[in-house]
Amino acid sequence: MSRNQNNNIIDAFYAELLPFPTFIISEDGTIISWSSTAEAVLGYKKNTMLAQPASTVTTLLSGDFSPSAFADLIAKPKTEQFTAISVQLADHTLQMAELVTQPCTYQQQKSLLCALIFDNTSVDGAILLKELVDIRLALEETQMLVTLDSEGFILAANEAFLKASLWTPKRIIGKSFWQLFPEKDASQSIPEQIWRTLQQGRIWQGEVEQLTKTGTTYWTDLTAIPTYCPIRKVQHTILVCKDISSTKNELMKLQKFAYVDAETGLHNSYWLENELPKLVMEQREFSFVYLSIDKFYTIKELHSSELHESLGSMFKQRLETYFQDSIIVRINEIDFALLTSLSDWFIEGFLHYLEKNPIYYERLALPISISGGITRFPSAFTTYTQLMRTSTATVAKVRSEGGNKIVSLTPAHHRQLNRKSLLETRLLKALDEKNLQVLYQPQIDITSKKVVGVEALVRWHDEVVGTVSPGELIPLAEETGLIHQIGLFVLREACLQAVKWSAAGTPINVSVNSSVREFRDKNMATSVLSILKETNCPASLLHFEVTEKFALEAEFAKSIQMQLEQLEQAGVSFVLDDFGTGYASFRYMQILPVNSFKVDETFIHTINKSEKANRLVHSMVQLGKNLGLRVVAEGVETHEQQAYLQSIDCDILQGYVISKPITAQAVSELL
Ligand code: C2E
Ligand code: CA
Ligand code: CA
Repeated sequence: MSRNQNNNIIDAFYAELLPFPTFIISEDGTIISWSSTAEAVLGYKKNTMLAQPASTVTTLLSGDFSPSAFADLIAKPKTEQFTAISVQLADHTLQMAELVTQPCTYQQQKSLLCALIFDNTSVDGAILLKELVDIRLALEETQMLVTLDSEGFILAANEAFLKASLWTPKRIIGKSFWQLFPEKDASQSIPEQIWRTLQQGRIWQGEVEQLTKTGTTYWTDLTAIPTYCPIRKVQHTILVCKDISSTKNELMKLQKFAYVDAETGLHNSYWLENELPKLVMEQREFSFVYLSIDKFYTIKELHSSELHESLGSMFKQRLETYFQDSIIVRINEIDFALLTSLSDWFIEGFLHYLEKNPIYYERLALPISISGGITRFPSAFTTYTQLMRTSTATVAKVRSEGGNKIVSLTPAHHRQLNRKSLLETRLLKALDEKNLQVLYQPQIDITSKKVVGVEALVRWHDEVVGTVSPGELIPLAEETGLIHQIGLFVLREACLQAVKWSAAGTPINVSVNSSVREFRDKNMATSVLSILKETNCPASLLHFEVTEKFALEAEFAKSIQMQLEQLEQAGVSFVLDDFGTGYASFRYMQILPVNSFKVDETFIHTINKSEKANRLVHSMVQLGKNLGLRVVAEGVETHEQQAYLQSIDCDILQGYVISKPITAQAVSELL
């Protein structure tokens, strides 16, 4: 039997999850994966089978399976099933099985996934397994499928998904569940809600907007299924999605045309987009109120799905009764907007009114909390897009602080939000044009006084927004996800520079700051290694500075730790930055592969201010040295501080007393 089958990509973990003995053969005829189930059921050990020619396994099978037969199967885009195969187990007994083969991409090479389904378990069991395999095959052909690990990282995705999401097989592995959805404030609760449902071991089903690699969106009917593998004791998730963009787009076109929200009969966002400029032109004075229901999806979870249909209408009734003579607009499922001439205190009173007049469902008062923002008109915010951005940002902030509050936006808020959105666009441009600079701050060995390393620090001067300090730039970049690009840019520059200094006969270490968000991407270590290779930079010259906040998160995320270990094995060093300001735990030095730490400048600045302060710095340095770590003092500003650090045997100094961050050229002159 054969079916048309797409070329799936899979990773090692996925192969391990299959409940049958499985192995993978590469195009050149080598066994490149041998699952633990294969080890347990067949009795041949993984380490004896891996890297062996395919003939090692074909000789154990009764059928006519020469290694070239496998090569043919790899070339065909089909799943094949061979029945009545007798398999020779390690204990020399023979057992009958069915062999299922499926071409796939594994470790970025064309390969063949082979699974043996034994007939002997029980007839019922075999029928069930066969049915499951058939259902899976049918799903593979007709739906988009994604498999996630327990942390939400993508383990496997089928061709249909890659086609819709525009990701390449190589790039999608290791991306996270959250990266599949647009980061809109209002809809942000959907992926979170899906994840929560999965964590409770329940299935989630519904329509969601998903994100492609290029940032466009498409609608799917998504079923998220939590599954648990009792043998390996791991939780994972299967996403089954069907593209419904065309139906959804039709509906949206209709709504757009009618300017009406189909469920409640209220004006919709297209109406607002169309009307707002007119009101602004007329210089009418009014307040724009944006209201968002905080826990809509939880309410939906608690109650039946029919409720979800009418909650919008019931909420509309409350709005209409309270805000008489105001214009009410439904922005989306959970967000509403009002154009009103009522005063702020009256608007804020809506929360109280809602408490006193709750929405009932089957005689049960639904606990609804609202987050909202009020903008007065006319104001600096005149366009629809600006207004929506500000409003959704405000609502997100209110919600993150616990929700159930309506706040008025002051002109200062507006300026701040305006600057943020301006910075965001300028930063995108700067990254595109590689318009960031890297300065280097020298670090000297305390005894030889020689420059032994530098810390790479990013600098951004923009012609429109002026000089932006890293203190403002880094948090913004982290929030928008642009930190990945900044991090890799700084890293590439730093590596190129390290190679230049090395070639000039003065090799010095380069320390690069890294934020934990960069390591949440499973491909981070791979990107770092490829930059090292590309720039020809020896890994031993590269140090990564990580903070205690980073360490705290890494402690709970296996994939971060694994990536750090992978880099350490390649020869990269890690430095614990800002030591003493966070959780100041030497435990991190055990968890993370750090071999030095930087005593934070706040401690250095207290040197000679009091006896106690000196003792504190002394004991920090001493403790580090006892643990065999290299101790760096940062932010050293005076000769007195330098002298004291010298007297207590600190290893490395960095700070204005030696030099401010300077250009690479200026560093070369010091070497
Ligand atoms: P940090 O890692 O603690 O970097 C040291 C900061 O202290 C730098 O500020 C440096 O200019 C400043 N500094 C150095 N010596 C002295 C001194 O003697 N006295 C005083 N008062 N300050 C001194 P900068 O460059 O403004 O960077 C601020 C922070 O931004 C850095 O703190 C780091 O956390 C972050 N950062 C900078 N570049 C990058 C980057 O490329 N990637 C990431 N993820 N973060 C970066
Ligand atoms: Ca640093
Ligand atoms: Ca620091």
